Amino acid sequence: MGEKRIALAAPEQCTGCGACAKACPKQAILFRDDEEGFPTPFIQADKCVECGLCSKVCPALNSAKSEPIRQAYAAQILDRDALKDSTSGGLFTVLSREIFRRGGVVYGCVWDEQYNAVIKKAENEKEMKPMRGSKYVWSWAGDTFPEIEAFLKAGRTVMFTGLPCQVAGLKNYLRKEYDNLYLVDFFCGGSPSPYAFHEYLKTITCDVPLDRLNFKFRDKSKHGVGVHISYEGKNGRIHQSYVRNPYFFSYHTKVFHRKPCYHCQYRYFQRVEDLTIGDYWGVGRFHKEFDIRAGVSTLLVNSDKGEALLASIRDQLQLSPTRVEDIALGNNLTLGDKRVEFHAPAFRSAFFATIKTRGWTAAERKFLFNKTRLKLWLKQRMPDKAVSAIKKILRRRG
Ligand SMILES: Cc1cc2nc3c(=O)[nH]c(=O)nc-3n(C[C@H](O)[C@H](O)[C@H](O)COP(=O)(O)OP(=O)(O)OC[C@H]3O[C@@H](n4cnc5c(N)ncnc54)[C@H](O)[C@@H]3O)c2cc1C
Repeated sequence: MGEKRIALAAPEQCTGCGACAKACPKQAILFRDDEEGFPTPFIQADKCVECGLCSKVCPALNSAKSEPIRQAYAAQILDRDALKDSTSGGLFTVLSREIFRRGGVVYGCVWDEQYNAVIKKAENEKEMKPMRGSKYVWSWAGDTFPEIEAFLKAGRTVMFTGLPCQVAGLKNYLRKEYDNLYLVDFFCGGSPSPYAFHEYLKTITCDVPLDRLNFKFRDKSKHGVGVHISYEGKNGRIHQSYVRNPYFFSYHTKVFHRKPCYHCQYRYFQRVEDLTIGDYWGVGRFHKEFDIRAGVSTLLVNSDKGEALLASIRDQLQLSPTRVEDIALGNNLTLGDKRVEFHAPAFRSAFFATIKTRGWTAAERKFLFNKTRLKLWLKQRMPDKAVSAIKKILRRRG
C-alpha cells in the first residue's frame, strides 16, 4: 500500500476539537496525549480510506464561516443568586433557561470526578448548574458532536457553549446550517494543559482529596468579581488571588497554553457564533449603571438567530448597548487587536520539562517567583502610596 496522503493539522495548529475523529466514517482517528498532556489526533493507517473528510472538517485547516459583530452590550442577569454563582454577568444561565423553556438541550463544560474539563449535555437547571464557572483548562468536546447532530436532525433545539475553536469545530463537523442550533462562545485567553493542571492539583490534594476539593477558578464570594481561586484546605476554605495562586498566575503568563492558542484565528471581530460572551473588564469607565462588583458580561450579537434569542431573554437582564472598541480596551488579547502579541514566555519548554522531571513545585520555584509576580503581589497588598515609595527606594538603589 502506498503512503497515505491525508494530513491532519500539525500539532502547532490542532486545537483538539475532535471534529476529525467524529467525522471519520471508518473511526480511523484516535487521540493520544502529546508530551504536554494535550490529546492530539493520529490516523490508524490500516483503517484510513483517504476520503479526506477529516481535513475538510478541521477548523485549523479550514476556517469556519464567520460574520462581523452586529451589536455589543454590557449585560447582567437580574436573578441575584444565579449572578453570585456565575463567572461574570450570568448570561450563560439566562440563555440556558430560555433553551430549556423551549424544550431544548444545552451543552457546556463540567468537571468530571478526576477534574478533567469535559463538555456535556444538560436538559434542566440542575444539570446546567455545574457548567457555571470558567474552568481554565483545555476541555474535551468531541464526543458531543454526533449527539448534537442527532438532536438537531430530530428537530430539538440545541445550544452549544464552548471556546471559539470548539464552536468552529462543531460548525465544520455539521457542514450544514440548522435553524434549531444556537452557537455561543466565550472570549478565550487560551486553553491550558490538563497535565500541568493535574500536576498543580497534586500539590494541594495532600490533605483534602479531589472529591472534597470543590475547586473554583473565579469565586466571587469573598472579593466580588475578579480572578480569585478558592478550594477546600485542611483548615477550611482557602481563597487566593491570581497572583498568590501559582496555577492561575501561570495562566496569566501564558506559559502552558495549547500551541495554536498563540496564533488563534478565532479571536477577532469576525465571529463564527451567534452570540459571544466575555468579562467586561473596565466596564466602570463606560457604564456606571451596573453593580460592577457583582460581575458584568459583554454580549456580542453576530447573527439573526443571535438577535432573536436575545429578544426573548431581554426581560431577564439589565442590558446597556456599548461599543466594541470599549470592550476591546480591557480584552485586547481575546478580541480583535492584531497588534497585541499573544506569545508564550521564553521559558515555556523548560517549564514543561521541569514539571516532568522534578514536579510542579520545582517548576514554580524556578520560573514563577519572579519580579513581575512580586511587584503584583506588593501592589495587591499595599496602598498605592506605599508601592510608589518602595519603587523610589529600589530606583535609588539601582
Ligand atoms: C479557558 C477560558 C478562558 C477565558 N478567557 C477569557 C478572557 O480572556 N477574557 C474574557 O473576557 N473572558 C474569558 N473567558 C470567559 C469568562 O471567564 C466567562 O466564562 C464568561 O464571561 C461567561 O460568563 P457567565 O457569567 O455567563 O459564565 P458562567 O455562568 O460561569 O458559565 C461559564 C461558561 O463557560 C463554559 N466553560 C467553562 N469552562 C470551559 C472550558 N474549559 N471549555 C469550554 N467551555 C467552558 C461553561 O460551559 C459555561 O457555558 C474564558 C473562559 C475560559 C473557560
